[in-house]
Amino acid sequence: MKALVIEDSKIHQQMIGLVLEALEVDVHLVSSAEEGLAALGNETFDLISLDLHLPDMDGLELCRRLRTNEATHLVPIVLLTSEDAEATLKMAYGAGVTEVMRKTSIEELQQSYTFLVNRLRRIYNGRVLYVEDSPTTAQLTINTLNEMGLEVDHCCSGEAALEAFGKQDYDVVVTDVVLEGELSGLNVVRGIRSAGADKREIPVLAVSGHEDMSRRVEILRSGANDYIEKPIVEDEFKARLGNLITSKQLFDQVRSQQDELRKLAVTDQLTGLYNRTYLAETAQKYVSSSIRHRESLSLLMLDLDKFKDINDSHGHAMGDRVLAAIGDMLLSRCREEDVVARFGGEEFIILLPRCDLENAIYKAEHLCQFIHELHPAGLAISASFGVSSIHQGGRHIDFEKLLKEADTALYTAKHNGRNRVEVYSEAGLEASA
Ligand code: GH3
Ligand code: MG
Ligand code: MG
Ligand code: MG
Repeated sequence: MKALVIEDSKIHQQMIGLVLEALEVDVHLVSSAEEGLAALGNETFDLISLDLHLPDMDGLELCRRLRTNEATHLVPIVLLTSEDAEATLKMAYGAGVTEVMRKTSIEELQQSYTFLVNRLRRIYNGRVLYVEDSPTTAQLTINTLNEMGLEVDHCCSGEAALEAFGKQDYDVVVTDVVLEGELSGLNVVRGIRSAGADKREIPVLAVSGHEDMSRRVEILRSGANDYIEKPIVEDEFKARLGNLITSKQLFDQVRSQQDELRKLAVTDQLTGLYNRTYLAETAQKYVSSSIRHRESLSLLMLDLDKFKDINDSHGHAMGDRVLAAIGDMLLSRCREEDVVARFGGEEFIILLPRCDLENAIYKAEHLCQFIHELHPAGLAISASFGVSSIHQGGRHIDFEKLLKEADTALYTAKHNGRNRVEVYSEAGLEASA
C-alpha cells in the first residue's frame, strides 16, 4: 500500500512517516500542495494524508480539487490538524475528507491510522464467536475467518456458544441455524439479544441452509442482523461479515468518542478535577441519595488565601502552576468515591459521601495543613475551609443549601484570620481550628 503525505512540518512528516511505515505502508513525503499534485500526476496512491495548513494552499481547498479529479476522487483522504473545532470538522467532511485525525498525540495517530489502514486492506481486528455443528463446514469457514485476520472461538452447540458468549467479548457472532442439541441458532440469537445492555447489541450473522422466505424472515425477526445461505460463497460471506464488523467497530469508536467528549465537558482543564458543570449535574443526586439511605454526606469548600497576591508577585502562569499542584494534592488525598471539583478561580469543593461532620472536620484540617506545608512551586500558600454536613438520617436539605452553609462557614474562616477550618451549624458557627 502506498501513501502520499503532504505536510510541511518536518517533525510531523517524521511522525506520520514512522506511524505509516510501522504499518508497512510505503510513504512518499512532500512539503507543499504543488509537489503533492505533481506526485499524483506521476503515480497512484492508496491513501493521501493532508495537512490542514499548507504553505501554498489550504488543505481543504486541495481536498476539494482532488475530489473533482478522476484519478483521486475515490482515494481516502486523511486531514491532519491540531484543531478540533467542530466548524473545522464540518468543513473538512464537506470538502470530501474521509477522516480527520489529530496530530497532537502519536498514540492517537497510531490508533487512527491502524484502524484506517486495516480497513483499506480489508483486514479486521476482532474476535468471532462461530457456532457450527458440522466439522467440514466449520473448518472451511474458520480458514476464511482467519484469512480475514479474525480470531475465532468455535462452538459446536448453542449451549456451548451461549456459555462462551457470557465469558468473552466478541465483535461478531456467526451462527448456523440448525444445530445439534437442544438449542437452535434462533435460540442462540434470542439468548444474545436478552443479554446485558453492554453485550446484547453485538452483530449476528445467521447461516442457513436452503430455507424458504418465511424461515429467513423468522431469523431476522429473532434479532439476527443478516443471514447467508449455505453453501457459503466466500466473497459474499466476507463482504457481509466485514460490513457487520466495520459498523460495530465504528459504533464502538463513536461511543468511545462520546465518552471522551463527555469527560472533557465535565473536567476542569487546568487541574484535571471535575468542573462546576459536573457538580451542578451530580451533586443533588448525592444529597438525595444520602437522605434516602439515611447516610451522612459532607461538603468542604476551600478557597486559597490571598491568591491575588501570588498572581501579582509571581505572574499568572505561576498562579496556574500552584492551582494545578493544589488540584493534584487534593485528588491524591481523597478517596475514589469523593468528588473533588474546581468550583471556580481558586475555589474548590469536595463532596464526601458517607462522611459525617466529625470526620469531615478532621479531613478538612488535614487538607488545610497539607496545603500549608505543600509549598507548590516553592511558594507559601494556605487555604480557608468551610464545612457543612447532612447528618445521618438528617435534615431535609438540598445541595444549594449545603453549599450556602459551607460558603457561610468559609466566609467566617476568612474573617477569623484565614488558613483555618470553620464549620456551619444550625446553632451558629463553631470554630474548629
Ligand atoms: P482571599 O484570601 O480573600 O480569598 O483573597 P484572594 O486574593 O484569594 O481573593 P480574590 O477573590 O480577591 O482573588 C482571587 C484571585 O484568584 C484573583 C484571580 O486573578 C485569581 N485567579 C482566579 N482564577 C485563576 C486562574 O485560573 N489562574 C490564576 N493564575 N489565577 C486565578
Ligand atoms: Mg447444522
Ligand atoms: Mg482566595
Ligand atoms: Mg475566591
